[in-house]
Amino acid sequence: MEYQPSVERYDRMQYKNCGNSGLLLPRISLGLWHNFGSVDDFGIASDMIKYAFDNGVTHFDLANNYGPVPGSAETNFGKILKENFRGYRDEMIISSKAGHEMWAGPYGGNSSRKNLMASIEQSLRRTGLEYFDIFYSHRYDGVTPVEETVQALIDMVKQGKTLYIGISKYPPEKARVAYEMMKAAGTPCLISQYRYSMFDRAVEAESLALAAQYGSGFIAFSPLAQGLLTDKYLHGIPENSRAARATGFLKADQVTADKVRKAARLNEIAVRRGQTLAEMALAWVLRDERMTSVIVGASSVKQLNDNLHALENLAFLNDELAEIEGILRS
Ligand code: NDP
Repeated sequence: MEYQPSVERYDRMQYKNCGNSGLLLPRISLGLWHNFGSVDDFGIASDMIKYAFDNGVTHFDLANNYGPVPGSAETNFGKILKENFRGYRDEMIISSKAGHEMWAGPYGGNSSRKNLMASIEQSLRRTGLEYFDIFYSHRYDGVTPVEETVQALIDMVKQGKTLYIGISKYPPEKARVAYEMMKAAGTPCLISQYRYSMFDRAVEAESLALAAQYGSGFIAFSPLAQGLLTDKYLHGIPENSRAARATGFLKADQVTADKVRKAARLNEIAVRRGQTLAEMALAWVLRDERMTSVIVGASSVKQLNDNLHALENLAFLNDELAEIEGILRS
């Protein structure tokens, strides 16, 4: 049967302006890093996109290399769009990125103008889109001058290939150069994407404040620490979990006794709040005023549904926050 988006799709979600821009993003966005590649179940992938859209998740986060195989998440997403979402492009924010290893040879995996310009063309072709809403430099590659990378992003906007631009994982001193240059060009940095969760708080030192200073929105990736901040690893590594799968980026040795012990104690607080640990972990990331959205991953509609329940209780008592701090520092 042909898919019809729910008429109630905007009833559940909350939206927030992305930094100083006029663009509203859903507080919960969906990432396609895992579970949307050619090795994954296309039916589940398609159901997750539909479920997300039916619940107001208007923002989908891709990158050229997501798969495996690299590129297949974009290809699959394009297919899902074509099969189900004709006529809904203007209700969606679709992001992609370039800068990590993607194709063979010296131009396939860095942040040069050569890589970015070829990459966005490839990504547009794979997804079948005419333009992206947001295009990111996926990383500072340690060699390419930031000015070269950022000029390529600015030119993509001028060429109509993307509406907005952003940066991901830039060290603060490089982020500052990018923010300044984008602002001067009249294409300010819409959004900054960094890893952030209860288990990885590096951005609290500088990156969060710097993005806010330049009016950039901020979006957290891996807010569940790839699943460690859910109840799934409390009693071992389940079959088919990311840590168990050969194609997963979470390795079994990252499921340490210390992380599991902390997750178990955090889970007790979540239960008291009437939430799952996943819900509480997302609410915790979103507690920061500067946080525009979190990008969650999911391997099932059920997980996505659980994660969306986080929106029902985003507030924390000071005592709860202090208790969480105590556990994270223990
Ligand atoms: P999460 O930290 O949200 O981890 C998602 C994984 O956790 C799921 O695939 C699933 O794993 C498990 N999970 C999710 N919800 C639940 C739940 N309710 N209960 C139990 N388990 C759950 O995010 P990701 O690491 O997937 O990253 C999210 C997105 O961020 C990516 O898709 C990508 O778009 C972006 N990203 C960007 C990066 C960058 O460099 N800019 C780098 C990494 C990510 P399982 O398979 O075990 O079920």
